Amino acid sequence: MGFNKKTIEDIEVRGKRVLVRCDFNVPLKDGVITDENRLNGALPTIKYLIDNGAKVILCSHIGKDASKTLEPVSKRLSEMLNKEVVFARDEEVVGANARAAVEKMNDGDVVLLENTRCRKEETKNVEEFSKELASLADIFVNDAFGTAHRAHCSTVGVTDYVDTAVCGYLIQKELKFLGDAVNNPVRPFVAILGGAKVSDKIAVINNLLDKVDTLIIGGGMAYTFLKAQGYEIGTSLVEEDRLDYALEMIQKAKDKGVKFLLPVDHRVATEFKDVEPVVTEDQNIPAGHMGLDIGPKTEELYADAIKDAKTVVWNGPMGVFEFENFNKGTIAVAKAMADADATTVIGGGDSAAAVNILGFGDKMTHISTGGGASLEFLEGKELPGIVALNNK
Ligand code: AMP
Repeated sequence: MGFNKKTIEDIEVRGKRVLVRCDFNVPLKDGVITDENRLNGALPTIKYLIDNGAKVILCSHIGKDASKTLEPVSKRLSEMLNKEVVFARDEEVVGANARAAVEKMNDGDVVLLENTRCRKEETKNVEEFSKELASLADIFVNDAFGTAHRAHCSTVGVTDYVDTAVCGYLIQKELKFLGDAVNNPVRPFVAILGGAKVSDKIAVINNLLDKVDTLIIGGGMAYTFLKAQGYEIGTSLVEEDRLDYALEMIQKAKDKGVKFLLPVDHRVATEFKDVEPVVTEDQNIPAGHMGLDIGPKTEELYADAIKDAKTVVWNGPMGVFEFENFNKGTIAVAKAMADADATTVIGGGDSAAAVNILGFGDKMTHISTGGGASLEFLEGKELPGIVALNNK
């Protein structure tokens, strides 16, 4: 699966109005951006366009709806770029204010449009808003990996109304790291999947079993696999309607000669709270208890499997890492990855947050900026925001 999409380096951008779809969907607390991974990821493309004399018009969504503004992002970006990023405050996103701001631009200037979700058409990929976005620009650049799995006006629709639609550096980088890891891994290739639910990761498990040498399962999804094999799981998370699927996957791993690792002990509690954990003796969880993290023997087992790997891909925490008493398994996996002499790739979302919060961020080869998008990529799906771009 070669990458055959045109990039910003394949086209002339000087003097052109370039609309760049970024992923500025960053977490905010009291108006302050608490994780800048996505902003950092966007900088190389923006800098390239500034340096090459484009008129740079940035757009993104933030949050699920119209309730948030991108103004704090424009301020922070101005600092990071050491250059004014003009915020085009405009409820219509592409209304009179935005148009006026774009009219005034000189080559090398940067304007940021308001949250694209201020327009309810955005997520429905409606023609009208796509056309409005396209009308601002000569060229469209998609660099929003985190939204590349969604066909929205600002990711897919807009490409129908511009002559040139290419990808930026972040999308190229994400596809390179995730793509090489999954399609061309240096072996042994170990994948680690955690998080709450099996049902969210069914297609990923199935796809990765065709590719990995070892698949490690942790987090809430592990209990469905354990119950399916007849272990006691107390009051742990379980998806009864996935028990058969769990057995199928265990069988598939056997048939393919893939090592399939499940927890051999757990940290449990009687309620879903950050309380002192009880460590179980083995796979079984006593009645009235729920598994909230993998146990110490499991940490060792998993660290051992990661130690000799040459490629490791991780998506989903090993337990309720938001609780200090139940973040040990997630820390152990992060540490084993940090210590391994391997290419280490973190799918976005919760695992990226966990790795950063726990202080292992700079020890990984690549931390994806896209949770949902990296999962769909790991499922083997094509991402519509990338499919829509011009081929080389
Ligand atoms: P996901 O979004 O599927 O990656 O799931 C991440 C969420 O799964 C985090 O908020 C974790 O707290 C949660 N989680 C992980 N392990 C468990 C568990 N054993 N029981 C309940 N929730 C869990």
